[in-house]
Amino acid sequence: MSDAYDFSDRIGRVEPSATLAISNLAAEKEAEGADIVDLSVGEPDFDTPSNVVEAGKDALDAGHTGYTSSNGIPELKEAIAAKLRDDGIDADADEVIVTPGGKQALYETFQTLIDDGDEVVLLDPAWVSYEAMAKLAGADLSRVDLAPHGFQLEPALDALAETVSDDTELLVVNSPSNPTGAVFSEAALEGVRDLAVEHDVAVISDEIYQRITYDAEHVSLASLDGMADRTITVNGFSKAYSMTGWRLGYFHATDEFVGQAGKLHSHSVSCAVNFVQRAGVEALENTDESVTEMRDAFRDRRDLLVDLFDEHGVDVDIGDGAFYMMIPVDEDDQAWCEAAIEEASVACVPGSAFNAPGYARISYAASEKRLREAVDRLVSNDLL
Ligand code: PMP
Ligand code: GLU
Repeated sequence: MSDAYDFSDRIGRVEPSATLAISNLAAEKEAEGADIVDLSVGEPDFDTPSNVVEAGKDALDAGHTGYTSSNGIPELKEAIAAKLRDDGIDADADEVIVTPGGKQALYETFQTLIDDGDEVVLLDPAWVSYEAMAKLAGADLSRVDLAPHGFQLEPALDALAETVSDDTELLVVNSPSNPTGAVFSEAALEGVRDLAVEHDVAVISDEIYQRITYDAEHVSLASLDGMADRTITVNGFSKAYSMTGWRLGYFHATDEFVGQAGKLHSHSVSCAVNFVQRAGVEALENTDESVTEMRDAFRDRRDLLVDLFDEHGVDVDIGDGAFYMMIPVDEDDQAWCEAAIEEASVACVPGSAFNAPGYARISYAASEKRLREAVDRLVSNDLL
């Protein structure tokens, strides 16, 4: 072997995505003939709404196969800005960058703001890719643990106040939360606002699960007084419209921020896929019924799981959104998840991946039949 590849320190700081690694393992086992109930990856199990598929096909037929302007087609940026205005954000189409997935929007944001040694604050349990993206950008991480507070932010505001300081560059807020399903209250977000303003901190508000909320109301952070010029609102089409494989997302921030981030966007992805952007306009404008149907199905599944866990004496903190639930398992959650897949043929993600050891994350984007099977299998293998 040659020594030609002298890998960067940067790439050595991160591991592959744990969520995707487990779902790859589940897929491998299924390819070998195993019957795995895969509750690992966060991916809606519904078809993309048919009118959106048709809009994508029409766009292909109409020849929309070339590059678009780097930040996105005007129709989509305008539709996104209109949607953000509905959320109370004073948004203009020029302040939006359309990306291939919300992940790219987050990646570009970290790269745009973070220098080596800058402090990024995460709320634990935190989705795996925040840590990886922050480290790739050179950040030092500080973390506030929401687990002792039922995964809610409001009771953890004092702890957050002890962590955020004038040295903090960026805080990441994700509500509804992956991996807990928690929806943060308006009072919690006002607490974030007060700290961000006091210490002049930028905030990523990752709202990708916004359309999947049950009884709690989603509030967009950038709609709060004082947040417009310090928030990067990230969102995408994967979860709300069951469009994971289309790879479409976006972020909104000030003109100035978009000017800086747009440089990275143009030098990396060039633009999001042309015909996919056109399908995105249809998704934003004509899918309310499909979104509501999917949301209601997720709610039924959450309720079913809560009942099943309750029957078996498993006490869960019930989230009000997304399609995730953290269940308390052995202290060694990695070993528990390994046993779950090897012995019970149920795939879950270890809480450690989200800096929450002692838990496993369940994605309940699966049919009620499969969810029942999963719980039965875990129980019969003494894992619950
Ligand atoms: N943010 C969170 C919290 C997520 O769970 C995901 C899921 N992949 C994303 C962003 C990015 O999703 P996508 O790139 O598919 O838009
Ligand atoms: N966000 C989803 C999850 O947490 C998809 C996988 C990923 O992007 O990491 O499972």
